[in-house]
Amino acid sequence: MGLCATCAHAKPITSARGSTFWLCGRAAEDPRFARYPRLPVLACPGFEHRERPL
Ligand code: SF4
Repeated sequence: MGLCATCAHAKPITSARGSTFWLCGRAAEDPRFARYPRLPVLACPGFEHRERPL
């Protein structure tokens, strides 16, 4: 699943076809980040561990 699954900036999105992916909240402010990162993200400078599960 990669880093996005436990990142505070990731938001899970489920498409109409039923697949789930992550929307990166950092992408809106910082062009280094993809809005929909290609998974798995194994290293990311913007990663911050999410304290609580979704
Ligand atoms: S900051 Fe990195 S790890 Fe966090 S959601 Fe964006 S791409 Fe994923």
